[in-house]
Amino acid sequence: MSDAKKLKEPALSASLTRNPAPNTNFAWDPWKESAHGDRPRRYTLALKTEPVLSGVISKELPAPSARQWDPWSHKLPKNVLPPEGYFGADSAPSPHEISSAARVPGKAPVIVVAGPPLRAGDNVPPLAKRMSRLGTETAFDVLLRVKKLQAEGKSVVSFALGEPDFDSPAHVIDAAKKALDAGQTHYGPSAGLEPLRKSIASYISRSRKIKVDFDQVVVGPGAKPILFDAMMALVDEGDEVIYPNPGYPIYESLADFLGAKPVPLPLSESKQFRFDLSDLEKVITHKTKLLVVNTPANPTGGVLTKEDLAGVAQLAKKHNFWIIADEIYSEILYIPEYASVLQHEGMAERTVLIDGFSKTFAMTGWRLGYGVMPKALVPHVARIETNVNSCTCTFSQIAAIEALDGPWDDARRFRAEFEKRRNAIVDGLNAIKGIKCLKPDGAFYAFPNVTQACENLGFKDSREFQDKALLEAGVAVLARTCFGRKNVGEDQEYIRLSYATSIENINEGLKRLKAFCER
Ligand code: PLP
Repeated sequence: MSDAKKLKEPALSASLTRNPAPNTNFAWDPWKESAHGDRPRRYTLALKTEPVLSGVISKELPAPSARQWDPWSHKLPKNVLPPEGYFGADSAPSPHEISSAARVPGKAPVIVVAGPPLRAGDNVPPLAKRMSRLGTETAFDVLLRVKKLQAEGKSVVSFALGEPDFDSPAHVIDAAKKALDAGQTHYGPSAGLEPLRKSIASYISRSRKIKVDFDQVVVGPGAKPILFDAMMALVDEGDEVIYPNPGYPIYESLADFLGAKPVPLPLSESKQFRFDLSDLEKVITHKTKLLVVNTPANPTGGVLTKEDLAGVAQLAKKHNFWIIADEIYSEILYIPEYASVLQHEGMAERTVLIDGFSKTFAMTGWRLGYGVMPKALVPHVARIETNVNSCTCTFSQIAAIEALDGPWDDARRFRAEFEKRRNAIVDGLNAIKGIKCLKPDGAFYAFPNVTQACENLGFKDSREFQDKALLEAGVAVLARTCFGRKNVGEDQEYIRLSYATSIENINEGLKRLKAFCER
C-alpha cells in the first residue's frame, strides 16, 4: 500500500469525533484506537531523522503525497493545517499534542501526523503504549530549528534556551580536573558521595534557614532526573498531580507518563504569575497526590511569596498530599528574601525540594542536581537511581563540593549580570508597540503579553508569532503553548524570552522584534 493511500484512511479522525477533546486530560490512546488493533498506524509524512514539524490533516481533504514534504521548508502541503505542536523525532504524538490538534477551530475531524517510524518498513513491532503519553520540551526542537537556520547561513538571535551563557567557574573546573587526575573515575553510591551530600545539606540549611541532614539528600545527574525519580516513587496510576500552568512542561509530561491525571493550576499575569489559593483549593480532590510548586518559575519568572507558600503548606497538610518544590532558580532572585515551602511547619515530612548546579553555577553540561526529602524516602529514590543511572558522575560530584563550599563570586556575578539583562529586556519589550511585559522577580525569563502585537500583525496566536518571528525576523522565542495548553478562559497571548544571552544579543533581538512588530 502506498503511503498516500494509508494517509487517506480516516480511522483516527473518526475516534476523535467520537471523543471531542476536552480542555484537559484527553485520554485517547492513539495506539489502541488504530485500525490495526494494537499495532500502531503510522502516518509517515516525513521520513527524515530530524524532528519534524507535524501537522494536522483534515479528513475531507485529499491526502498529501508522502515523502514530498520537507518539514523544514515551512511550506506545509496544501491539505495540512498549520502545526499545533512539534513532535520529537522518535515520539508519537502525546495526548496533549493530540488534544491541541483536535481543537483546531472548525477543522474537526482531524488526524495527527506522527514523526518518522522507528524503522523503515511496515510490519515492525509497536512502541510501548506509554510512549503515547510522554510529552517533550519543545525548547530543544526550536533550538534544532535555530541551528539548522544558522547552518544555512541565516542570522538568528536566540532567546529560546534556558541555559546560562557563562563559563562554569574556573575553580570548579580545576577541582574536576584534579579529581580526574586523582583517579576519581569509578562508580559511587547511588544516593551520591557523602561529602557532597553533606555540603548540600549545609547549603540548604544556610540558604533556606532550616535544618537539613545529609541523609535527606539524593544527588542525581541533573535536577530533571530527581524530578523523575520523585514522581516515580510517589505517583500511582489514577492519582492526580497538580502542576503550574504555564509551567515547565516536564511536570505535566511525567504525570501523564505515569498514568496519573495532570491537573493544571492557572498562573495569571494579574497576580504577577502567581496562583490564587482559592484556585488551588478548587482543583484539590481526594485523588490529589502531589502538587508541584516552582519558584522562581519557568517560563514566567514569577516568584511565590511567603504567604502563598504558607497557604500551600496548610492545604497540603489538610488534604494530605506531597509537594515537589522545584527551586532550581532560587539563587537567581532579584528581591532580598527567598521563600521556600520547606520553611513551613510540617513540610519536611511531605516535600521533595529539587535544586541543582545547572543554573546557579552555569553548569548545565555537568549534569548535577539533587533532591532534599524525608529520610524514609531517600532509599526509594536512590533505588530508582540505582536502576537508571547507577550513580552520578563521580568527578562532577567532587567539583560540585568546590562549587558549594568554595568562593561564590562567579555565581554572584552571574546573578548581577542577569539582573542588568532583565532590566534591559523588559524595558526594550515595553517600548515595542503591542507588547507589555511585567518585570519578573526571578529566573532568567521574560514572559511578555503579546496579545495586541498578534492582533496588529494579524496572527492567530503566540505560536504564529513564534514561527514568524523566527523566519521573518530571525528571532527565536517560545510560544506560551510550549508551556502547557491555555487554561480555561485564558484569552491572552504570551511568549517566553530567555535572557541568558549577552546584552549585545538582547539589544539586537529587541531591535529586530521592534521592526517586526511595528512594520
Ligand atoms: N526545573 C526547571 C523549572 C527548569 O527550568 C529546568 C531546566 O530548564 C530543570 C528543572 C532541569 O534542570 P537540570 O538541567 O539540572 O536537569
